[in-house]
Amino acid sequence: MQELYRNIPSMHQLLEQEMMVHYKNNVERDTLKKWLNEGISHMKKAIREGEQGITLRYGSKEQVMIQLKSHLDTCLLKDQKKRIQSVINATGTVLHTNLGRAPLPKQVGDSIQDIASGYCNLEYDIEKGKRGSRYDAVESQLCQLTGAQAAMVVNNNAAAVFLSLHALAKGKKVIVSRSEQVEIGGSFRIPEIIEESGAIMVEVGTTNKTYLRDFQKVMDEETAILLKVHKSNYRIEGFTAEVKGEDMVDLVKGQKENSPIVMEDVGSGVLVDLRDYGLPYEPTVSSLIQKGIDLVTFSGDKLLGGPQAGILVGKKELIQKIKEDQLTRMVRIDKLSLIALQEVLNLYMQKSQKAYRALPIMDMLMISKEELQIKGEKLQKQLAEEGVTYETHLVSCQDQPGGGSLPTTVLDGMAVAIHCGDEDAAGKMLIALRHEEIPIIARIKEEFVLLSLRTLREEDSMIISKALKMYQMKGMA
Ligand SMILES: *Cc1c(COP(=O)(O)O)cnc(C)c1O
Repeated sequence: MQELYRNIPSMHQLLEQEMMVHYKNNVERDTLKKWLNEGISHMKKAIREGEQGITLRYGSKEQVMIQLKSHLDTCLLKDQKKRIQSVINATGTVLHTNLGRAPLPKQVGDSIQDIASGYCNLEYDIEKGKRGSRYDAVESQLCQLTGAQAAMVVNNNAAAVFLSLHALAKGKKVIVSRSEQVEIGGSFRIPEIIEESGAIMVEVGTTNKTYLRDFQKVMDEETAILLKVHKSNYRIEGFTAEVKGEDMVDLVKGQKENSPIVMEDVGSGVLVDLRDYGLPYEPTVSSLIQKGIDLVTFSGDKLLGGPQAGILVGKKELIQKIKEDQLTRMVRIDKLSLIALQEVLNLYMQKSQKAYRALPIMDMLMISKEELQIKGEKLQKQLAEEGVTYETHLVSCQDQPGGGSLPTTVLDGMAVAIHCGDEDAAGKMLIALRHEEIPIIARIKEEFVLLSLRTLREEDSMIISKALKMYQMKGMA
């Protein structure tokens, strides 16, 4: 035992070793010391407890170093896995909240690189040669695309809602239906947001039914906003009644003075009629503006397919008032997102299916069964060429729009199903794929690993094939 202990160098000796340079370049010295200490105590424990094979593993100074290096590599890999990196989404969920919501078109990345790597006219009016507004370009695009009088953009939609309530309803009443008390992704809850904004929430109706007369009954001079919130991630079915935004508009019009405004938080916010592409109806932002909704808020990175952003469109005087609120500066959109949004909106301006399909989100939603079939056959071919011998089948599967949009919509999808033998083996393969250098996130169904084709990109096929080939070889060894 003493012999073996003697093979373990001191911390000082360890840190001086040539091989430590690599780790020193990647982590702070204190972290490296912590990892080495872990490795050493692990060894000492194994020796103390006389574990099997210790004389082999720690029999010489060289062997000890090999063990420590392997421990450091594991630590470094774990550390690096936490960094934001590319993953392959084989889940078929298009707007995957955990996988970064909307992937951006390639050309957006190019624009960001071109514009942001140097100076740009973010807040400079080139015509006038003096200070300008960062919102000018996208505001003009948004007004054209939605027909609204004015627009502005903030950090995300949660901020857009909060800011609107703060700027327009602080100390006043906001009326909202009990069926629209939404909670989004953990911490965004409408009742709490209203309260935090300084507005007074007035709930009307019941969970399943709310009528216009419920709003009418409580609306008074103290009311600033009639709020409608999109039921983004749930549906109420059966015996139901809900009040449309346009009916609220009619109700408000009847008021003589101090009439409240109608605000709609649509969550996802679409700019094209999805029915044209075989998808369920979602009111477009322009249709809401046309119906007279005073203020509409939505996300940049949901169905719009852009960067994280909160978009507000509506009446000029309201947008003006919001822009003047002190909180605006705190929820300001950053330069990179703004450039991305500008490029994405530019694609919408072209109003062609080709331009829409340049947006990955739209492309994945609009893809046809035939196209999925072709994609599947290509992947199968690639797998065979790489020498992957698992049995694969091209099967139908159910995909989802995801990201709190179109909650009950199921998309007819197709997947390459890899036969793993049994459920256990499928589970193991699923985990192994997730631990690849470029992690592959898939699903399992019984003894199959499903690779949904909708969310796979062309370049993913090669990576998946190589990963499966390696996994197969490890299994044989
Ligand atoms: C998603 C969503 C939000 C929050 O939007 P973020 O852009 O994620 O901040 C707010 N309201 C509704 C109805 C939503 O669906």
